[in-house]
Amino acid sequence: MPVPLQEGRQSPLSLQAHYSFDRFITGPENELTAAACQAAAAHPGRTYNPLFIHGAVGLGKTHLLHAIGNAAYRFAPEKRIRYVTSERFAIELISAIRGGHTESFRQAFRTADILLIDDVHFLPKKESFEEELFHTFNALYDGNRQIVLSSDRPPEELAELQDRLISRFRGGMVTDIQPPQFETRLAILTAKAREMELGLDREALSLIASRINSSVRALEGALIRISAYRELQASPVTIERVSELVIPEPVTEWPLDVERIKREVAQEYGVEVTALEGKKRDKLVTQARHIAMYLVRDMLDRSYPAIGHEFGGRDHTSVMHACRKVSDLLDTPLFRGEIDRLKRKLQQPAPRSAQRA
Ligand code: ADP
Ligand code: MG
Repeated sequence: MPVPLQEGRQSPLSLQAHYSFDRFITGPENELTAAACQAAAAHPGRTYNPLFIHGAVGLGKTHLLHAIGNAAYRFAPEKRIRYVTSERFAIELISAIRGGHTESFRQAFRTADILLIDDVHFLPKKESFEEELFHTFNALYDGNRQIVLSSDRPPEELAELQDRLISRFRGGMVTDIQPPQFETRLAILTAKAREMELGLDREALSLIASRINSSVRALEGALIRISAYRELQASPVTIERVSELVIPEPVTEWPLDVERIKREVAQEYGVEVTALEGKKRDKLVTQARHIAMYLVRDMLDRSYPAIGHEFGGRDHTSVMHACRKVSDLLDTPLFRGEIDRLKRKLQQPAPRSAQRA
């Protein structure tokens, strides 16, 4: 069967060259992950396989995936390196099926030396995609080829993905990236401001680092604002200007996570968060626990086993039971009102100070 040329080998030019390890600033929040990525690039398929990177948006996952590809290409230009988002993977699969060239699709992916799959949490929900990804994974893994995956959450929290995929994802090294603390933010800003030739001094950079804390992308956004200002006004960028241009990010705990749901529910029902995770079976605690599990399922779309794990290692069947019970109770207007109110509250960012000690 004829194999379309462009399917056979993807030029590493499709990698973004500026996403390099050199440009990736490390700190305690990401250095382990960066080191694992460098090892994977230097010895593909031989150190951490698969390498699974998770972390919130804007913290450098895509950057690292490209950096692996770029570095691996420099080590060994003959290697077939493929970067793909999980959505792109699905789109290409559909078009291959429609066009009758699934074989060449498979060839293209299953013969890669290094496959970088970005944002697996966005794999469209459909059995055929998981099936294809599973077989692609196995083909590469069995051939000692490197697989690197990124996601916004750890494998066990990838709701709805087949267990066999999740267990494959967990089979190598799972590593995370945390939001950068002040010192790392300052180092990132320093490097980027220098590259952009913004001429900002340490005081100005510290001010930005103290005001922006959500992600590296947000730090870049602040510098871009300053750069745009500088181009429009020929005047120097004073610290007062920086202060005007970079307004403090609201200190919020957002997006919503399991911890916050537990905390709000515990507060609402006057029980301890630890009781929700514990074994106590009195009526109030049990009901609060059921509601918390239901909300995690409903609002965060987590799988039953993942929820069981979050609530003291409970079995997935007891989580299913809890969720069903709450669903049934929703027919009662009073109860529904209570749940709706809780949900509205959880949909609002909460002050960070409310965190569990
Ligand atoms: P994610 O894929 O995790 O959402 P990205 O890789 O797209 O995040 O990173 C967002 C932006 O921040 C990119 O421009 C990236 O180059 C930059 N960035 C992220 N982490 C770092 C870092 N540690 N050092 C330098 N730049 C970074
Ligand atoms: Mg990304």
